[in-house]
Amino acid sequence: MVGHVSHGKTTLTQSLTGKLTLTHSEELKRGISIRLGYADTTFYRCENGHYGSSKKCAICFKEAEPLRTVSFIDAPGHETLMATVLTGTRLMDGAILIIAANEKCPQPQTREHVAALEAVGIKNVIIVQNKIDLVTKEEAMQNYKEIKNFLKGGILENAPIIPISAQQRANIGSLIEAIQEIIPTPIRDDTKDLRMLIARSFDVNKPGTDTATIMGGIVGGSIISGKLSIGDEVIIKPGIRVGSKYKQLVTNVVGLQKAGKNLQSANAGGLLGLMTELDPYLTKSDSLVGSVVAHVNKAPDIRESLSLEVKILARALGEDLKNISGIREKEDILLNVGTARSIGSVSSSKKSKIELKLKIPVVAEKGDRVALSRQISGRWRLIGYGTVL
Ligand code: GDP
Ligand code: MG
Repeated sequence: MVGHVSHGKTTLTQSLTGKLTLTHSEELKRGISIRLGYADTTFYRCENGHYGSSKKCAICFKEAEPLRTVSFIDAPGHETLMATVLTGTRLMDGAILIIAANEKCPQPQTREHVAALEAVGIKNVIIVQNKIDLVTKEEAMQNYKEIKNFLKGGILENAPIIPISAQQRANIGSLIEAIQEIIPTPIRDDTKDLRMLIARSFDVNKPGTDTATIMGGIVGGSIISGKLSIGDEVIIKPGIRVGSKYKQLVTNVVGLQKAGKNLQSANAGGLLGLMTELDPYLTKSDSLVGSVVAHVNKAPDIRESLSLEVKILARALGEDLKNISGIREKEDILLNVGTARSIGSVSSSKKSKIELKLKIPVVAEKGDRVALSRQISGRWRLIGYGTVL
C-alpha cells in the first residue's frame, strides 16, 4: 500500500463502499468529517519496458503485462488535517510526497508531512514534483533545488524526486517505475497472529431494507499481520462506544473483498473489505475506525494507559516550533496508534519516558509506534513519536 498520493483527475478514489469518495473541499462544504480516500490500481509494463496503469501501453499501444495491484491512500494535504493523515500512515508500506512545482518549497504542510513520515517510520518514500506543466524549465530546476535543500540532512535526503504533471499524465511511467523500485511489496508472514486495522466501517443497506435481505456490517482496513478466512470467528477491539464504555464485538467473517475481487482468505497488504454478521447499526458511520480485528483467542489487550519511550522531532517542525519544550506532566497529548486516535493525559514524564492515561482506550502492543501531537495555538501539531514499552 502506498500513501500520500494526491489524485489529479487521473485516478478514481473509489472507496470500499463502492461510493465515490468526496474530495476534502466537498466534505468541508458539507460539514462532514474528513476522510481518507482510497483507490486500487494495477501497474503494467509493455515489452518495450514502458510502465503504465492500463492494459494497453500509452506510448507504443502494445498489450502490457500486469505487474501488481497496489492500494493508494489519499491523505489530505492541508496541515490542519494532520491527524487524518496519521490515521492512514500505519497502513502504508511506502509513501509518495507530492510537492507542487509552482509553489515555494517547503510549504507548512510539506514540513509537517515529512515530520509525519519520520514519526511513523515510513522510509520508502518518493518525492513527486507535480504540476510541471505550469512552470518553465528554469522554474522547475529552481523548485527542484529548493526541495533538495529542504530535504538535506533529513531522512528523505536521498529520496528520488520525480517531476510529473498529474493533470497532463506526463512522466507517470517514471513514477510507476520508481514505485516498483522504491516501494516493493514487503514479505508478509501469514503465520503471525492476525491484526487488521479498521480505517472505515459502514452500513451498506438502504433505509427500509427488509430484514430478510439485510447485509451485515462491513469494516474496511488493512491486515498488518497474519491471515483471515471466511468462516473465522473474530473479535473487534476496543469495539463500539456505549455511553462512556467500549464494548468488544465478536462476529463471523462472511465475506472478504480486495481490489473488487471476492476472496476466500486474505493476508496483509492492500485494502480489505470485511463483511460480518454484525448488526449494520454497529458499523455505520465509521463507528469502528481505530479498532483492531483479531482472532478470538489471540487478541491483543485493550490499554487504558500507555508507557512510551519518546522522541521529539525538533528539526522537521518549522520555525515556530523550533524551541519546543519537552512533554510536561498533566498536559494532554493527541495520540495516533494504528488507525486509532486518543487523548492521553501525561501522568509522568521522566527524560524520554512518559506515561499517559487515555481518554479513549486503544489496542497497542509493545514496540508499536505512536505519533504524538500537542495543541499549539488552537490546533494539534505533530511534535514527535513514542514507542510502546
Ligand atoms: P490535493 O489538494 O493535493 O488533494 O490536490 P488535488 O488533487 O485536489 O488538486 C488540486 C488542483 O490542482 C486541482 O484543481 C487539480 O486539477 C490541479 N492539478 C493537479 N495536478 C495538476 C497538474 O499536474 N497540473 C496542473 N496544471 N494542475 C494540476
Ligand atoms: Mg486530495
